[in-house]
Amino acid sequence: MALLQRPKGTQDQLPEGSPKLEPMTSERWHRFVTSTAQNVIERSGAQFISTPMFEYVEVVRRGVGGSTDIVRKEMFTVSYFEERDKYVLRPEGTAPIARAFLENGLKQLPSPLRLWTHGPMFRAENVQKGRLRQFHQVDYEVIGSPDPLVDAEAIALMVEVFAQLGVRGTRVQLGSVGDPEDRARYNGYLQTLFTAHEARLSADSIDRLQRNPMRILDSKDKGDRALLNELRPLPMLDFLGPQAAAHFQAVQGYLTSWGVPFEVDPTIVRGLDYYNRTAWEIHHTGIGAQSALGGGGRYDGLIGQLGGQETPAVGWAFGVERALIALGHEGAQLPAAKGPLLYVVALDEELLGAAAGLALQARRFGRAEFGVRARKPGAALGEAVKKGAHFAALLGSEEAHNGTVSLKNLVTGEQQSVAQSDLGRLLEGVMQ
Ligand code: AMP
Repeated sequence: MALLQRPKGTQDQLPEGSPKLEPMTSERWHRFVTSTAQNVIERSGAQFISTPMFEYVEVVRRGVGGSTDIVRKEMFTVSYFEERDKYVLRPEGTAPIARAFLENGLKQLPSPLRLWTHGPMFRAENVQKGRLRQFHQVDYEVIGSPDPLVDAEAIALMVEVFAQLGVRGTRVQLGSVGDPEDRARYNGYLQTLFTAHEARLSADSIDRLQRNPMRILDSKDKGDRALLNELRPLPMLDFLGPQAAAHFQAVQGYLTSWGVPFEVDPTIVRGLDYYNRTAWEIHHTGIGAQSALGGGGRYDGLIGQLGGQETPAVGWAFGVERALIALGHEGAQLPAAKGPLLYVVALDEELLGAAAGLALQARRFGRAEFGVRARKPGAALGEAVKKGAHFAALLGSEEAHNGTVSLKNLVTGEQQSVAQSDLGRLLEGVMQ
């Protein structure tokens, strides 16, 4: 019978030692990224929020925007019995967080409210390197302040996450998509421009030409991209009104004063409809120009769009798999996995249960494993060394009779007889 496979564009996160292990598929690497991000992000006062993995389609349609690729082509809708396509597997974190902010009255918490989350996201993409159908994001949002100070802080925080991850070679590309009226003028300009080249546009982009010409700029179609390359730079920045321009200057001023490097990119538009003013992407040489490690922006209109009172906000997200590609590209290594602090082996079949019982008790103090077969002393120690254990405890009939174990410190080589009741205290004293 043919072996069943996982769906295209998904990955298993594998344990240490798996034959097909690479950073992107390593559970330890994933955990390293999210725990490092957590350390950095929570120091900013952000609190973790977790939203369901599926939402009503309407949250995504209204939140992300009807003219985006996500809504038009990449939604994994969920159907069951009579409820067809009512739900969608969440494609991103911001719209669900904004929905949760409104639904749970989080407005009453001190403002601005800093939230963060991480978890799987789903988009029915054309699968390529770094473009998956189930991928993982770390997501940070600051809700309640229009001040450029929080935009700059959000960018600095994102840069710091990558610095702490050890990803070198990142570049922040910073732009502004202005206020809605600025974008309307820019869209008008693009519409005139692209209409002159309509014959060269893909069917999707001809559609975008009517709905939202800005979305042509993030088309993944080859022909569209060739045309865009001829027409660029198409700078959005030229269309900023005085208020959006002042806001953009202020963001840059803060970043410069804090020594956070960035490049102004007049062409950044970002692929989601909800952004206004500040928009940025973080790129890395190992990933390629068309794909970003992460991106973010201000989205003052989103919460209003979802039916709430207009509430200014700014946020960012990065892809864990993309971060892992960057780390892999730089040859980063994780410290070796930790073996057990204690490895207990029975020297006699009859003592298997008793040896396991000692390990179970020791787990209150640290990592403790046991051998599932009785061994001779030499083989028992060999097994403990293979496991990378700090201590090996051997339980023979004499030790069982005396209520002791024969304990070998595999780091120093020291060996002693220790009362079973003292094992916990001994383990507690060891750095783990
Ligand atoms: P976006 O929500 O589209 O701005 O995406 C933010 C980040 O999520 C991107 O910069 C990527 O790092 C990551 N990302 C988005 N889509 C995918 C995907 N299909 N596969 C892997 N990572 C993705």
